[in-house]
Amino acid sequence: TVATLMDFAGCLDDGVLFHYVLPVSRTRALIETTVFGPRPLSTARLTKYQNAALDKACGGHRRTIVRSEGGVLPMGMTQVAPPLGDGYARAGVMSGGARASTGYAFQRIQRWARDSARVLSNGGGVTGHAADPLIHRGMDQLFLRVVRSNPEGAAELFLSIFGMHDPMRVIRFLTDSCSLSDYAAVIASLPTGVFLREMWSGMWTRSGNRLEFV
Ligand SMILES: Cc1cc2nc3c(=O)[nH]c(=O)nc-3n(C[C@H](O)[C@H](O)[C@H](O)COP(=O)(O)OP(=O)(O)OC[C@H]3O[C@@H](n4cnc5c(N)ncnc54)[C@H](O)[C@@H]3O)c2cc1C
Repeated sequence: TVATLMDFAGCLDDGVLFHYVLPVSRTRALIETTVFGPRPLSTARLTKYQNAALDKACGGHRRTIVRSEGGVLPMGMTQVAPPLGDGYARAGVMSGGARASTGYAFQRIQRWARDSARVLSNGGGVTGHAADPLIHRGMDQLFLRVVRSNPEGAAELFLSIFGMHDPMRVIRFLTDSCSLSDYAAVIASLPTGVFLREMWSGMWTRSGNRLEFV
């Protein structure tokens, strides 16, 4: 009856490791291993971490793996694919469907599909995912930079967000239905110093052999 989200299992040299346990019955669950990192991990390494998660969730009990899957999700897109021509639109996780800071995409893709169906049934044309609002993109980029430069503190950052007084704010934040006051609460829940330092360092850019303030 209890779902476990982001059970942090340590910081690797090249990423942050956590597990999800999502039970669907008393004896059956989706058990997931996730690594946030700059490079994909090999299947062998991921399998090792996944087996540790299975051991933890099942204890010494007999277990059967019913199905397994794996994948690599982009944490934000750096390139926009060229348009496909009239009547076609790119959609899904490789076309801006995923939230950059979490990789969550299901609800966003479903929302896009629902909106597209409405537009089509009103005689309009189909388009891909709209860009996220500027504040959203800015916060996600900053968050990812903080995680990248401070992976050993990443668990604390997520725990600060999940530990907010009103859990509905977390859900609205993660599902893109956040108000300005939700944003303010999320920002307030995070350690300010580490974000200000990252913002400050991001304002400096290297041009040739000079550092420029931008
Ligand atoms: C292990 C894992 C867990 C995830 N968990 C979550 C989660 O908990 N919450 C969440 O919000 N998101 C999650 N995601 C992210 C995202 O929601 C899923 O990846 C989602 O399935 C993406 O949908 P999609 O339609 O973009 O791509 P897909 O579901 O991968 O669909 C793309 C389809 O296109 C087909 N295809 C590819 N190339 C071609 C081609 N050239 N011609 C014809 N067909 C082609 C593929 O076979 C595939 O069927 C998860 C992803 C992974 C991998």
